[in-house]
Amino acid sequence: MTITVPRCPARQRNGRYCSQPAGRSTSHPGYGSCVWHHGAERHVEEIWDMAHEAAAEQGITPHEALISLVEVAAGRVAWVDTIIREAMREHVEGGGDPLKPPKDVAPWLKESRLERTLAARTAKAAVDAGVMVALERRLDMEGQLVADALSAALDVLGLDQDQRMAALGAAQQRLLTSGDSSGTTND
Ligand SMILES: [Zn+2]
Repeated sequence: MTITVPRCPARQRNGRYCSQPAGRSTSHPGYGSCVWHHGAERHVEEIWDMAHEAAAEQGITPHEALISLVEVAAGRVAWVDTIIREAMREHVEGGGDPLKPPKDVAPWLKESRLERTLAARTAKAAVDAGVMVALERRLDMEGQLVADALSAALDVLGLDQDQRMAALGAAQQRLLTSGDSSGTTND
């Protein structure tokens, strides 16, 4: 097993990954972008603070928490929009003009704009903070789960070592070709 120091997930202009340690010279050492890649900007330090807090509360990793912050913000937008849609449906069904929303919907329209702004800001901060690498790690984790499940299945079949390696090789080939869309490699 090798221990790797997490790196800043940003890419440099030449396309190579940044060689600085993750979170170098920021308030979130060990996580996300370094000082030269937005890491010390206020919105990025704030979202890592929130991610660390949420991680401690929920017993998940800060990277998972970062993804979850984006998901929650998007979820709130969807929730407000559902309320507006329902209210408008009732209004129109009751003979109301669809172009003139009832008064009690107005605060929700305002809320919708606010939640959209917050969600966009959260997404931007998460991207600057290095959320893409968190997503890649989640894919790695799922890849590991698939490998474990496959391994267990091969155990049941009672294959000999050569057959087992051949089966794993074929499965790996399949997984690699189907995973092309994620398209990122570490050189
Ligand atoms: Zn960097």
